[in-house]
Order: sequence, then C-alpha cells, then structure tokens
Amino acid sequence: MSVNYAAGLSPYADKGVCGLPEVFDSPEQLKANVETLAQLIRDSQYLVVHSGAGISTSTGIPDFRGPKGVWTLEQNGESPHFDTTFEEARPSLTHLALLGLQRAGYLKYLISQNVDGLHARSGFPRDKLSELHGNMFVEECEKCGRQYVRDKVIGVMGLKPTGRYCDVVRSRGLRACRGKLISTILDWEDALPDRDLNKAEDASRRADLALTLGTSLQIKPSGDLPLITKRKGGKLVIVNLQRTKHHKQAHLLIHNYVDEVMKQLMELLGLDIPKWEGPTICENSGDPDESSVDVKPPRAVTAKRKLKKCLKKEERNRDTTALADDGSVKEEAVSVKRERADPPGEISEEK
Ligand SMILES: [Zn+2]
Repeated sequence: MSVNYAAGLSPYADKGVCGLPEVFDSPEQLKANVETLAQLIRDSQYLVVHSGAGISTSTGIPDFRGPKGVWTLEQNGESPHFDTTFEEARPSLTHLALLGLQRAGYLKYLISQNVDGLHARSGFPRDKLSELHGNMFVEECEKCGRQYVRDKVIGVMGLKPTGRYCDVVRSRGLRACRGKLISTILDWEDALPDRDLNKAEDASRRADLALTLGTSLQIKPSGDLPLITKRKGGKLVIVNLQRTKHHKQAHLLIHNYVDEVMKQLMELLGLDIPKWEGPTICENSGDPDESSVDVKPPRAVTAKRKLKKCLKKEERNRDTTALADDGSVKEEAVSVKRERADPPGEISEEK
C-alpha cells in the first residue's frame, strides 16, 4: 500500500486555499510567544489540542496545503513527494511532546484530522483522542462498532469493507460477532464518525484553551471546533506557518515549525519529551471520567503482540482471544467500554 492516501480519495474540486506563503516569527518573537503559551497552559483547566497534517511533515509525510502540499502540487500538475511509508513513519517531536503533555495532566483531549495513525502509534491514549478523518491502521466492525488497530495499513479507504470480519467472541461459548470490518478512512462526502465527533465537540465545549498545531483550519467541521471553545469564553492559540482560516479569532498566533515550538514549550514547562520505542497502542488513559461511562455497544481493539501496549488500568478489561482470520497470528482483544455519546453540538450539521 502506497503512502499516498490522497491518491485513494475521490476527485473533489474544492480543496480550499493552497500554497499560501509561510511566515516565521523572529527568534525573539518566537521565544516571547512560546513563553506566553506556556503561561496560558499553566493557567488552563482544560486544554484541548487540534492537530493537522503540519505536525507530520517532519516525519516525511507531506501536508495538503503547504508550499509542497499534496493539493498545492496537484493544482500545479505535480505529484507529492513522500520520504516514508505510513508503517515506517516515526512520530515527530510534536507527537511525543503531546504525549508528555497528556501524561503531565495538562492536555485533556486531542482532536486530530490526521489519518497517519501517529498519535495512536505513539501511545497517546485512544480514549482521549478523536481521529475525525479516520486512521490508516484501524478497521471497524460495522455491526458492533469494535475497532481493530493493526500494525500494517488497512489498504482500503472510504469506509469500504476490508474483506475481514469481526471475530471477537462476545462471551464464552457464544459465536463471534462476524460483522464486516470496514476502513475508517473518510472520503470527501463521508460523514464524520459520530463517537469521535461527539467527544471532540464535548471536549471543545469544556475547554478553556484550544491550541491548534499545523492545520489551516479550512476543513469543516474539524477546523471550526476550536471556535466552540472560543464561543464558550476560552482562548484560541494557533501555531502554523501559513495564515489560517481563523487567524482573526486567535488570542495568540505563533509562526514557526511545530516541532521547534513544542521543544521550547516543553523546556519552559520543565517536562520531558517521551522517547519513541516503536509502535505502542494505549487504549485507556485510566481516567474514570472516560471509563465509567458505559454505553452499548462496547468497543474493543486488537493489536498484534508486536505492538506494545500501555499496561495500566486496561488490564482489568483484558480478554485474550485467538483472533486471526487466517489463523496465522494470535492477537489480543482489549475490551474497552464505549464512551458517552452526547447529542450533536452546534456545528455538527456542517460538513
Ligand atoms: Zn463486531
């Protein structure tokens, strides 16, 4: 499977504004801006981060609307350049810093438009993460909603069947679900996943600080979610090289590479950036706020043994099952209670 996710999407005319010039703060301005951001984070009660393709460019995966973005080049009749595959891509400093911010208790929820799977594979707890446009490594049962995190890309897009079936045994002695598994990757006209969108809207309403990293904020509804926080009286901080759609709404604008901003930020906050030790899937943050909400159907995730798991409170939910369709790989199923689903929020009709 090629890394070229964009090539698998349907043709679509309106790609938004592409190829805007990049702007850089002076070193002094950058330092002052990151100091302001650090103080805003220290003062915040509920920080939500919104990430876009700009946080993965340093891993070799191109963005969409940057000077060398997929859509920018497409408009010029050129093809994008990929320095990696999704399987080989390592999380950037920014991905790992976000994990550090979450572990330190500053970052309460992460909302991503990225399909590269790098947040999930860096070990960011999936109950604190909304992947609004899907994940190249995740397939989902269309019958019971269970998700499977694989260590290879699924190879199918647009919510189409992957050819595999849900094989989680629901309880001892009963038959497995056998629902069709489908890709979680959205095509242009596909609706966003309810659960991820509801949680993202809920977090955006609760947030008093929204930080956007590497996104032009042009895609709806994802790009408008930070405005919910602003409307509720919270502050918006935008970190991006190009001008974004909501620049005028920002309390603070920072123009530099996200990795540089996050490096300086973590130093100011006195936090270590976790090391990358290979793909690690963490289902459960252990936050009772997430795990105590029991809404059917349950959601489970499998990960091949090769993937390291975070071994905290998820242990109590673990249920080991031989799962492989072809019998070649034994996988472990981790049952995770489905999170709450609130009614759609004020911008959920927009797409
Ligand atoms: Zn199922």
